[in-house]
Amino acid sequence: MRRASPSPTPFFDGEGPVRTGCRRCGACLIGCPYGSKNTLDLNYLWLAERRGARIRPETRVETVAAMPEGGYEVHTADGEVLRAAEVVLAAGVLGTVELLFRSREQGLLPHVSPRLGHGVRTNSEAITAVLADDPDADLTRGPTISSEFYPDEATHVTQNRYVGGWHMRLQLGPLVDGEVPARRRRAALAELGRHPFRQLRLMTARNFIERLSVFTVMQNVENEIRLVMDRSPVTPWRRVLRSRTGGGAPAPSYLPQANEVARRFAESAGGRPLNLLLESVGGKSITAHVLGGAAMGADASDGVIDTDHQVFGHPGLYVVDGSSIPANVGVNPSLTITAMAERFAARYRARRTSSPDHASSIGAQ
Ligand code: SF4
Repeated sequence: MRRASPSPTPFFDGEGPVRTGCRRCGACLIGCPYGSKNTLDLNYLWLAERRGARIRPETRVETVAAMPEGGYEVHTADGEVLRAAEVVLAAGVLGTVELLFRSREQGLLPHVSPRLGHGVRTNSEAITAVLADDPDADLTRGPTISSEFYPDEATHVTQNRYVGGWHMRLQLGPLVDGEVPARRRRAALAELGRHPFRQLRLMTARNFIERLSVFTVMQNVENEIRLVMDRSPVTPWRRVLRSRTGGGAPAPSYLPQANEVARRFAESAGGRPLNLLLESVGGKSITAHVLGGAAMGADASDGVIDTDHQVFGHPGLYVVDGSSIPANVGVNPSLTITAMAERFAARYRARRTSSPDHASSIGAQ
């Protein structure tokens, strides 16, 4: 494997830890072991820590409570109670939405908008794959995503290496077309029934990860699901986050463009095109990029947060992560989330500078 020598970070005017060049190991999805990928611990968290922020890894927040005199209490799973004048939630869609649900259900954040959990976006995604016919093929050399294209105006395809994705053995099955989920399910089950040994060979294929190409197919079109708190089907004594159909157009479990990409790639490169079984048999909308659920809106009847990311009804409580995004962006959304977080920080700082009474702290005290 090619080695790169350490060099100063090219970002933030050189402020940051020493970096090394990419070794093309393909493991970006599970974190970069060489300090080449732009992960938060190498930029924002690193910079925050050097400016006095205290980072508390492995700490799970159970609830946030508004205090009568103003400010918030943050309750951790270890029983600790932290107090802060202002709190920023940035736990990702599933973390932030569940935290807000749990806190509202317990009466700790009573004014959180009824729009919580609505307008959740799957990025209008479908995921397909191709397993190379050559058992000795090794397609893992390079960063996780190195190719992308738009087959039409609304559709964006990225080709992914899947180092670390062993679970895909159990999740993939025959490529089956069909706009109607029930018919597609029947067709997929019939195909599996006709060729059980083909499926077994797929699941036990030698060098499976090395031979696998995965296509994430995303669209910037209007559709949604909804997240609610409900009993877990596995542990019914617990209430957990569950997905439901939303009020608008349903998020897709099938995109013809996704199947076409897999089919054509398999034909030209020599391989077997595949669907996720949860999409073809389960009829589920699967995404690597869930967005929304605590989205920005004009008021509490329209969204959970305002344009400054502040939760309606709870001044000083902010949501700054993918759950604030109110639409399918149709691309990998990390840069959109970063841009919105930087905008939040700039506006927060400007308000703080212009108003001396503005609360003097963010985070736990
Ligand atoms: S391919 Fe990804 S994980 Fe591997 S060195 Fe490059 S950035 Fe890091």
